[in-house]
Amino acid sequence: MMSISERVAVVRTKVEAACERAGRDPGSVRIVAVSKTFGPEVIREAVEAGLSIFGESRVQEARQKIPLCPGHLEWHLVGHLQRNKAREAARLVSCVHSADSWRILEALNGAAEEAGAGLKVLIEVNVGGEGSKYGFNPAEVGEALKRSAELPRLEVVGLMAVPPFTPDPQGARRFFRQLRELRDRLREETSFRLDELSMGMSHDFEVAIEEGATLTRIGTAIFGQRLANWRSQKGSWNIGGVSEDGESETR
Ligand SMILES: *Cc1c(COP(=O)(O)O)cnc(C)c1O
Repeated sequence: MMSISERVAVVRTKVEAACERAGRDPGSVRIVAVSKTFGPEVIREAVEAGLSIFGESRVQEARQKIPLCPGHLEWHLVGHLQRNKAREAARLVSCVHSADSWRILEALNGAAEEAGAGLKVLIEVNVGGEGSKYGFNPAEVGEALKRSAELPRLEVVGLMAVPPFTPDPQGARRFFRQLRELRDRLREETSFRLDELSMGMSHDFEVAIEEGATLTRIGTAIFGQRLANWRSQKGSWNIGGVSEDGESETR
């Protein structure tokens, strides 16, 4: 079995190769290590392998885990957020990738204001138009951006998407491209620069990088498989009932 540092080395090599193919500077892509279900000791191994940005998908889990991890790390929230968790999210993370509705944008702005801080957010776009997925319809993003001028505590830094799953990662390419083209268009039509494109997961991050990802959210390829019954997994993060506070696993 490969160690985390070996897996990180493999991921980095693939990131660099994808940048090379796309004529991009490897420094323009940052890996967000999605550490959900894994505990602080496992995260520390990833830190030792040189990673410093970690992504969690549940606020309850992040709240318990972050204080036990090295203090210099950057934490991002990548999973759907409920409004009643916005205050805690704003306190725990510096960036929310999954701003998927106007209501949550407003809640995050209020939460950041209470915390006396600013918060970076990415607008999540439902590129596949899937009923089962969160996110703004592509046609609504321009309006949301314009309205976000009313939310002074939020800095909208880019767009995020989780495309429909296809067994062949090439199937995701058109959705990644669609997100980049939407970004390019909004950049021309608004005053937002939207520098960040959060795209790609373990299965398809190379394609996402070829299409312009600047933040790529990688879990399994770094930490290994998340077991269905992850509470029994070695190095897993033991927190009581998964749905105790009404949150659910995204994957
Ligand atoms: C879990 C998760 C990831 C990481 O998925 P892997 O396939 O394990 O790399 C990325 N993005 C989001 C939104 C997730 O929920």
